[in-house]
Amino acid sequence: MAEPTVTPMMAQFLEIKEANPGALLFYRMGDFYEMFFDDAVAAAAALDIALTKRGQHLGQDIPMCGVPVHAAEGYLLTLIRKGFRVAIAEQLEDPAEAKKRGSKSVVKRDVVRLVTPGTLTEESLLEARRHNFLAAWSEVRDEAALAWVDISTGDFRVMPCPLSRLGPELARLAPREVLVSEVKEPDCAEIVSDLRAALTPMARASFDSQGAESRLCGLFSVGSLDAFGTFSRAEVSAMGAIVDYLDLTQRGKLPLLRRPVREEAGGLMQIDAATRRNLELTQALSGGREGSLLHAIDRTVTAGGARLLERRISAPSRNLPQIHARHESVRFLLEQSLFASDLRSDLKRCPDMDRALGRLALDRGGPRDMAAIRNGLGQALLIAQKLERNDTPALLANGAKALTGHDELVALLDAALVAEPPLLARDGGFIAPGYHEELDETRKLRDEGRGVIARLQAEYVEQTGISSLKIKHNNVLGYFIECTSTHADKMLAAPLSETFIHRQTTANQVRFTTVVLSELETRILNAGNHALEIEKRLYNSLKREIMNHAASVNEASRALAEIDLAAAFADLAAAESWVEPQVDASRAFEIEAGRHPVVELALKRSGEPFIANDCALTPGETPAIWLLTGPNMAGKSTFLRQNAIIALLAQAGSFVPARRAHIGLVSQLFSRVGAADDLARGRSTFMVEMVETAAILNQADDRALVILDEIGRGTATYDGLSIAWAVMEHLHGANRCRALFATHYHEMTALSAKLDGVENATVAVKEWDGEVIFLHEVHKGAADRSYGVQVARLAGLPQSVVERARVVLDALEKGERESGSQKQAIIDDLPLFSVSNTPQPAQKPTGPSAVELRLQELIPDEMTPREALAALYDLRGLL
Ligand code: ADP
Repeated sequence: MAEPTVTPMMAQFLEIKEANPGALLFYRMGDFYEMFFDDAVAAAAALDIALTKRGQHLGQDIPMCGVPVHAAEGYLLTLIRKGFRVAIAEQLEDPAEAKKRGSKSVVKRDVVRLVTPGTLTEESLLEARRHNFLAAWSEVRDEAALAWVDISTGDFRVMPCPLSRLGPELARLAPREVLVSEVKEPDCAEIVSDLRAALTPMARASFDSQGAESRLCGLFSVGSLDAFGTFSRAEVSAMGAIVDYLDLTQRGKLPLLRRPVREEAGGLMQIDAATRRNLELTQALSGGREGSLLHAIDRTVTAGGARLLERRISAPSRNLPQIHARHESVRFLLEQSLFASDLRSDLKRCPDMDRALGRLALDRGGPRDMAAIRNGLGQALLIAQKLERNDTPALLANGAKALTGHDELVALLDAALVAEPPLLARDGGFIAPGYHEELDETRKLRDEGRGVIARLQAEYVEQTGISSLKIKHNNVLGYFIECTSTHADKMLAAPLSETFIHRQTTANQVRFTTVVLSELETRILNAGNHALEIEKRLYNSLKREIMNHAASVNEASRALAEIDLAAAFADLAAAESWVEPQVDASRAFEIEAGRHPVVELALKRSGEPFIANDCALTPGETPAIWLLTGPNMAGKSTFLRQNAIIALLAQAGSFVPARRAHIGLVSQLFSRVGAADDLARGRSTFMVEMVETAAILNQADDRALVILDEIGRGTATYDGLSIAWAVMEHLHGANRCRALFATHYHEMTALSAKLDGVENATVAVKEWDGEVIFLHEVHKGAADRSYGVQVARLAGLPQSVVERARVVLDALEKGERESGSQKQAIIDDLPLFSVSNTPQPAQKPTGPSAVELRLQELIPDEMTPREALAALYDLRGLL
């Protein structure tokens, strides 16, 4: 048997593969990307394509699969979505070059790019209306920070972020990929996987803050990062890791990053992951975008505007002047309604300049991206003119300013590019005639050559007397003369054979060339190649020019997004009768005739009206907590959520679905639903409910808005009731926040008599002829009964079961009445949660314990480990 050998190509493949661990290797071979060995097996399964074999390696068949290069993007997207990373190895030389080195020599190849979820830039791989963030979290000593970037738009931000805040912040940003140091991987794995983002551990060196500083300075060409503000070591480390990773994945070609901006956590309304899920802000519980708040209210007409809306909804502001400025813009555009709609048709024609710029910077762009910038800046000017008025509010006026002053670049691109250039620079044809003299001349030569060919054909027809003779072109033969086989003999015989040189015979045709034709061809080819070269040169100089203006183009597209969003909010307010909310520094929460935008939209589709409801939670003036009872399906959850959403929309800069709204700044928004099924994460549903409730009770400050829906539902009745009761007392006494609490424990309505900040409310139903009719109206007062049996009947439970249930219910109710008000007595006797009697929850109700006294005596700095251990045993003994 022959000695197993490794072919030179396999040797090259294996070498590249080893240098790029953890990624599928797309190995370029001609018009295909091929995958081998385990990569092929995994990719064939993930892509549902055929797995074949190609030769042998060490005596074994090599599994192989491949995708055509022209269709590779679609396959890449599938692989990335399924959690793979892909290294793309291209041929770095012409195969002819390799042949020159000898018959065994392989074409040089290497990885030119590592495609990962957080580093996509291709239009077809990205969702135009969503960001694609790559984040990095770093901890240096006792500081920690989160940095994130969207490399397709260049947005680069950073903020301090202890591990405890990592979950909520990542939930807000919804990054596709998160980088952490390999030593921190265990701390972050669950947080990241909960968000369905990819976690990429990196070597500790990538997070080294000193190296990071010099990398960042180099990137932004500054001597010191102080130019951008002062950053902590952790912030520098997180930003540095991002730059390091981009360098690795983009193989040295860095994307166009904007200067890093620090985001102030205190400036944003805090919303944790559970609340986001629950309120279905950007994603419905079912997983899709449909059914989410974002989907229901998105009226933006540009991709940049849509991305800004998602950011605003995900992170409403807490900065009053900022909120007011945004409302002022919406009001202005609303008052100028006609003009706003005109403005929007201009906006609609604005291409996505940010992403076009991003692709150009990474050399993945083309002439069409340049045209996008030209067209975008052209539109920007029209929009700016519409906003040039004395009464334009500052936010829009500043935006308009950023839209002007690009004349030089626009004029250049206007002159240089044809109206609708091709996607890629490769084949030329994008530089406009009249822009470059030499190019025009060369093109003339090339095109004239084509005219000469037409004349030559006529000449040959005459010379041969064959009227069907044609001069054609294909990629293999170049230009050739073709006639049908019937005339072949004539052509192959003298005197014609002296001029016409035979090249090829096919089934029906015979092909020839002539000396004149070959010479002409060389001239045309040379002119064509020369024209292409000139175009490529011009392309590069245009690109340089665009990059020189990158910062101001970015500013313009930021302004366009801001204007688009304000106009979209104005349009929404006009169409849906939303009003400008009054947002101030008070603790008010007064909503008149509030509505839930998503439920309202769903009802509208089925032709039903939405019943608007009031809510008043201003502490002091009105009770700060409403306890809402009422049967299932009455509309409790809807009411709870609509109030949270109204607060969120107001602070996101939008008008709100209500007749009137007065909202004192909300610092944190919490929303929980009792015992939501969370089987996917394998935790007991009740445990999840309690963990989430604990988070609220521990974190909510007096500016928080809390909505709790059926807390305590996940356990036995009395357990559940006791927990709900105690939670309510804690919210009232310790958190002192504004809250809405829905429950089906009617017993809890007794609390309103004991706590002055609590009021009962109920969603009204009418009973008519044994049926329950939902009115969806919220009134003060408690529900008298739960109508569960009636609701069960509505749901289609068999008649016999409904009747039996009614009998059992009657018996139970009768029994309760006859055995005296025993249950009532229990409730009246319940002691109140201690904290509600003490205004300062942080103070302890009793003096320090023995353990605490002993602890106070200890001076850890002066203890040896052995003494410390002994002290620990002592303390344990005191328990
Ligand atoms: P609950 O939480 O009391 O069980 P939901 O809030 O889930 O009830 O509401 C049940 C259904 O009632 C909703 O899906 C919606 O169709 C309808 N509904 C709720 N509130 C209103 C309202 N204010 N106006 C009209 N229909 C409503």
